[in-house]
Amino acid sequence: MDLCSLNDVRALLTRHGFRFSKAKGQNFLIAPWVPQRIARDAGVTKECGVLEIGPGVGPLTKELCAAAGKVVAVEIDETLRPVLAETMADAENLELIFGDFLKMDAAALAQEKFGGLRPMACANLPYYITSPILTKLLESRAFQSVTVMVQKEVALRICAKPATADYGAFSVFCQYYTEPQVLFDVPPDCFVPQPKVTSAVVQLKTRAAPPCEIADETIFFRVVRAAFAQRRKTLLNSVSSAYGEKNKQEWERVLLDCGIAPTVRGETLSISKFAAIANRLAAEKRS
Ligand code: SAM
Repeated sequence: MDLCSLNDVRALLTRHGFRFSKAKGQNFLIAPWVPQRIARDAGVTKECGVLEIGPGVGPLTKELCAAAGKVVAVEIDETLRPVLAETMADAENLELIFGDFLKMDAAALAQEKFGGLRPMACANLPYYITSPILTKLLESRAFQSVTVMVQKEVALRICAKPATADYGAFSVFCQYYTEPQVLFDVPPDCFVPQPKVTSAVVQLKTRAAPPCEIADETIFFRVVRAAFAQRRKTLLNSVSSAYGEKNKQEWERVLLDCGIAPTVRGETLSISKFAAIANRLAAEKRS
C-alpha cells in the first residue's frame, strides 16, 4: 500500500470507518517527497532514536523506521490504532503509544525508550498545538534536534531575528534552546484535507550551551514576555506595566544600567540584551 496515494489512503480509511478530526489537527501527507525529505534532512541514521508525534496513517513513520535505529510514535487518536496496526505491521523498530503527548513526560520518554541512541524528534505537527508541543520538546532538553512541519508563519516566527515583524517571545524561547532554520516549504496540495495555509519544515538543533549566561531562566523568560506584552509601546512602558514590581523610574535605571535606551521597542532586543536585564534583576534579588 502506498501511504501517500490519495486513492490508497481513502480506501484504507473508509475500510476502517475513519473520519478526519479537525479538532485533532488531522491533515495527512499525500505527497511522497515530503516525508522522504523530512527524514533525510533531519539526518536520521541507525544510531538515532526518533520520537514522532502524531503518526496519522504513518507516511512519515515509515520513512523514519527505514532510517532510524528505533522510532516511538505517539498518537492521540485511538481510531487510528487498527489503521496503524495494518500500515505499520512490518516495522519492527517501531513502538506505538496511544495518548496525548502533552500529558507525557518527554524527558522520561526519551530516556526510557532511546538508551544508547541519539534522541531526536520529527513530526508533521497538529497545528492547533504547535507551540505547546515545541515548548515541551525544547524544555525537556532531551532531544539533539527537532525537525517539524508547522505553519509557514510559525516557522518564520521561530527563526526571526530582532527588529523584524516576526520576532517575538516565541522566537527568543526557541533561539535560547536551539539554532533553528527553515528547511523547505510545503504547499497545501500535499495534504488531505488541504489546510488553508502554506506549511514549512523547520529544524531546531539543540545548543550544547545557552547562547549567553543566564542567572535565572524564570526571570529571563518573564522579562521576555513582558517586553513583548505591548509591542507598540516602548520597552520601558511595556516592562513597567507587564512585569511590574518596580516603578517607571526604577525600570528606567535598570535599562540604562544595561546600556539599553528605555525608548526602544522590546522587539529590537537581542537575546543577550534580554539576558542583561534578567541578570541585573536576578543580582538585585540576591543582594
Ligand atoms: N504524521 C501524519 C502525516 O504526516 O500524514 C499525520 C500528521 S497530522 C498533521 C497530526 C497528527 O497528530 C494526527 O494524526 C493527530 O491525530 C495527531 N495528534 C493531534 N493531537 C495530538 C496529541 N496531543 N498527541 C499526539 N498526537 C496528536
